[in-house]
Amino acid sequence: MKLYQEYLNYLSDLIFPGICPVCEKAPYQDGLSYMCLECEDLLAWITKNGCKYCGIPMSGFDFNGLVCAGCREDPPRFKRGRCLFLLDQNGKKIIHEIKYHGVKDVLKDVPRWLNRNDSFREFLHDSILIPVPLHRKRLRKRGFNQSLWIANAFKKDLGDRVQVIEALTRTRNTETQTEFDRFERKKNVKNAFALKKKNGLNKQNKLILIDDVYTTGATLDECAKALTQEGFQNVNVATLGHG
Ligand SMILES: [Zn+2]
Ligand SMILES: [Zn+2]
Repeated sequence: MKLYQEYLNYLSDLIFPGICPVCEKAPYQDGLSYMCLECEDLLAWITKNGCKYCGIPMSGFDFNGLVCAGCREDPPRFKRGRCLFLLDQNGKKIIHEIKYHGVKDVLKDVPRWLNRNDSFREFLHDSILIPVPLHRKRLRKRGFNQSLWIANAFKKDLGDRVQVIEALTRTRNTETQTEFDRFERKKNVKNAFALKKKNGLNKQNKLILIDDVYTTGATLDECAKALTQEGFQNVNVATLGHG
């Protein structure tokens, strides 16, 4: 099985030559992982206590959920949030490779990322994963929704413990948030999301919104609003990167 997988990876590398997102050498150098294991070790993995909303690492004992200053000032509508790694230089490269180069193969490493963080994996258990949607115009231009890719990568690891449902739509084609500050980001995505009429959700479900990164949380908070205003209570968020 292992050899077979190594062979497949070797073939896929011949046909679609890629690069390790961190060191930019050829991927699958160890035959199995897309990103080199040494580079994987260099990521700023979040494994300690974090803010219960946005997941940013915090020091101190976690009795009932620590809350960071940003979330205290402006509490989001979702209940809990988790992320896997900080967006330092290396973390940014990974997201960039997925989102702007469309390298889905990076996400084949997700099971090993989850092995580094049992509590993140447990957090996803028995939930419905809802990818943050792109507007149909943006989707047509980009050709894929990276949040759906990430949700499916989690599903591949967790199997029957999770379901992926594209329950939300983006009703406005909002501008990209990259250059905006916190206030502008909120304004830009205000009322940009809606729950689909036929969504297959029920009110008891634990819902987890999935996005590539958590920056100010404005987009995820608007998505949460589209769900909470329809009466869903158990709305959470999970992202790969934070920063
Ligand atoms: Zn590398
Ligand atoms: Zn926070």
